[in-house]
Amino acid sequence: MTTSAATIELVDVTKVYRMGSVDVAALQGVTLSVAQGEMVAIVGPSGSGKSTIMNIIGCLDVPTSGRYVLEGEDVGSLGEGRLAEIRNQKIGFVFQTYNLLPRLSALANVEMPLLYGNGHDSRRRSLEALERVGLGPRAGHRPTELSGGEQQRVGIARALVKNPSILLADEPTGNLDSRSSVEIIAILQRLNDEGITVVIVTHEPEIVAHTRRAISVRDGVIVDDAPVRDQRRAVPAGAGGHGGAG
Ligand code: ADP
Repeated sequence: MTTSAATIELVDVTKVYRMGSVDVAALQGVTLSVAQGEMVAIVGPSGSGKSTIMNIIGCLDVPTSGRYVLEGEDVGSLGEGRLAEIRNQKIGFVFQTYNLLPRLSALANVEMPLLYGNGHDSRRRSLEALERVGLGPRAGHRPTELSGGEQQRVGIARALVKNPSILLADEPTGNLDSRSSVEIIAILQRLNDEGITVVIVTHEPEIVAHTRRAISVRDGVIVDDAPVRDQRRAVPAGAGGHGGAG
């Protein structure tokens, strides 16, 4: 255990990729602390190291040097088996291109992460996850029968189905029109309100404005880390009817 309230803590993390005989320094000393319940955007130009940071936070990769402590556990030196366990238990991944299986229904897609566990209540849990993103009525539809925004909601439901404490979203609205983007960001804000830590990689200032904190990366280092002033609330078109605010 640590005394820190941080759920994600990177200390002087470097990542070096070896390309043939050349070393590529993707991260050159990243120190970053994210508390439970934060909603953070990671921004920066292509090649700056955003995906590398996400891969390390998501336990898909480990630092070359430095420390990564996730919910009090030093994960920097763990083997693949334990990393996979941590990914399964703590982290939900949301992808730009949704990564849904086209032949399966929305429900079956959401159920995928549960298939390897003991699956007696996996249907119910998957349906609950779909309901959390407002897609209960579409449970039987295949991805091709859903809009882009609905497909991404299925992607979010799949990320939620194991009740992770952290959601990592890589350009979650990158393939969506602005109306669907607002729906997605509204869902991410609501999940964050419920206590889930949300980390989003994005190029879009519109998305950053809906987070609470923007971390700018350039050439493998953090060049800026500041609260977002007046965080915007996303209000999806056609929303309302949820009570009496006027
Ligand atoms: P971003 O997500 O901001 O576009 P990345 O984290 O993907 O940046 O990449 C950071 C740097 O590391 C880039 O120079 C990229 O070419 C390099 N890089 C990323 N992944 C690998 C890899 N698997 N092998 C070699 N170089 C890589």
